[in-house]
Amino acid sequence: MDKYDVVVIGAGPGGYIAAIRCAQLGLKTACVERGIHAQHKPTLGGTCLNVGCIPSKALLDSSHHFEHLRLHAKDHGIVATDIAIDIAAMQKRKGKIVKALTQGIAGLFKKNGVTWLEGSGALTADRRIKISDRNGDVTAVVAAENIIIATGSIPAAIPPATVDQNRIVDSTGALTFTEVPETLGIIGAGVIGLELGSVWRRLGAKVIFLEALPEFLGSVDAEVAAEAKKLFGRQGLEIRLGTTVTATEPSGSKVKVHYESADGEQNLDVDKLIVAVGRVPNTAGLGAEDAGLGLDERGFITVDADCRTNIERIYAVGDVVRGPMLAHKASEEGVAVAERIAGQSPHVDLALVPWVIYTWPEIAWVGATEQELRQQGRGIALGKFPFMASGRGRAMGETDGFIKIIADAGNDTVLGVHIIGPGASELVAEAVLAMEFGASAEDIARTVHAHPTLAEGLHEAALGVDSRSIHL
Ligand code: FAD
Ligand code: NAD
Repeated sequence: MDKYDVVVIGAGPGGYIAAIRCAQLGLKTACVERGIHAQHKPTLGGTCLNVGCIPSKALLDSSHHFEHLRLHAKDHGIVATDIAIDIAAMQKRKGKIVKALTQGIAGLFKKNGVTWLEGSGALTADRRIKISDRNGDVTAVVAAENIIIATGSIPAAIPPATVDQNRIVDSTGALTFTEVPETLGIIGAGVIGLELGSVWRRLGAKVIFLEALPEFLGSVDAEVAAEAKKLFGRQGLEIRLGTTVTATEPSGSKVKVHYESADGEQNLDVDKLIVAVGRVPNTAGLGAEDAGLGLDERGFITVDADCRTNIERIYAVGDVVRGPMLAHKASEEGVAVAERIAGQSPHVDLALVPWVIYTWPEIAWVGATEQELRQQGRGIALGKFPFMASGRGRAMGETDGFIKIIADAGNDTVLGVHIIGPGASELVAEAVLAMEFGASAEDIARTVHAHPTLAEGLHEAALGVDSRSIHL
């Protein structure tokens, strides 16, 4: 039986990065992965690279170019006629990006000496890992001094809308449409719904959201959420809040969605329906019960702040444990666990994990929202700067949105930064770094920012905390 210092189960951004870091630290490492990609071949990279972050961003980019050309090229004096979208070519481009990146991980494994054990990994009662192939036949049993579980998450299901990956799809199905649906219904106006809804709207679909909660983007800073709702509405995304989907029925080439709202019973005919109501931890086939692994009431593997499970030398990271379901959070936990196994003392600050929603304008934030801080009764000072007043924003033709910095009213420490606007996904990195170093708003205000850049908006918002923005 092969023996390893570390066996990682799952090769998403939590697992593959943990495996590489373990190998860098001199640990004999294997990674078990059962993923099969669209061409029925084994693949590394997990949800993120195969059916998540990367393919969705590829489509967001393609559709953004298309919309920009259609609506804004003329502002620049560019005459573009007969603009059309070739969906097959767009999907082919997406596939090439996914292939390059997932094969890249296989290359990194080889280079770092990580052994890829293809198949499904299950913990056994005697602390071994049993690997099975697609038919369920056991192909190997290996022993590991340490185990890192990184089995990720899968889409949540709801009984009234069973996914068939044809007319009713989850996020994976919504990434592979071969034509633009005329009408697209989306259950859940969260991150996935907004990103994939934006893709298909830009390409011509009429998009209608059915969201259960009465408020839009409830966990986002309320001012940002209100701005987003206004801007998305202007783009044509129709968001129906406070709705309960009760049933769906195929009807010819359409799906009839029955739902209830404050106006009573309603229905809606759509060509495609995306179910995007959250994700749930994936422990199917992991043998958690056999091994005595602790799970919480929602099915997440129970871990402490250092990602230790209830079983000694078994760790768990990423979407399968508490905390935000984000690729970079999974990766940082993977690195930290690898370093802990190697005897180091790393830490991951979950309070400073940045969030990005890749709509346009983008939404990004780190730290606490204004409503959270007010609920805590914390004294705060606010600085806000609109992109309308940004020289670079004007030059780009990107004037929607703002940057908002929230600081402690007493000692000026930055407590939260909330951005809706162009390039928010990149701008938030400065805020994360500032907060990681415990910066005050004054620290950002005294930092020289290049002109003309969108990042000057952060500088101006920081000045605004002390009511001394220059360009407002
Ligand atoms: P996963 O990436 O889910 O990987 C888990 C892996 O484990 C899978 O490959 C699975 O096959 C394997 N596995 C499971 N069980 C076993 C087993 N028993 N044996 C062997 N292998 C097993 N996050 C962001 O930060 N930014 C984004 O832009 C973003 N966009 C997204 C877009 C979409 C459409 C979706 C669905 C998600 C997106 N996410 C994004 C979330 C992100 O994909 C996840 O947070 C991230 O992939 C979690 O990483 P992970 O390693 O924990 O799990
Ligand atoms: P989400 O939690 O962001 O949004 C789900 C939405 O569905 C919520 O607004 C919720 O109120 C609503 N909902 C739940 N049940 C419902 C029901 N029965 N009917 C109508 N609405 C209902 O989840 P998601 O959009 O599915 O994404 C899952 C996770 O994947 C995200 O939370 C995030 O962690 C990750 N993700 C991240 C990114 C990114 O970082 N840009 C992109 C995509 C996904």
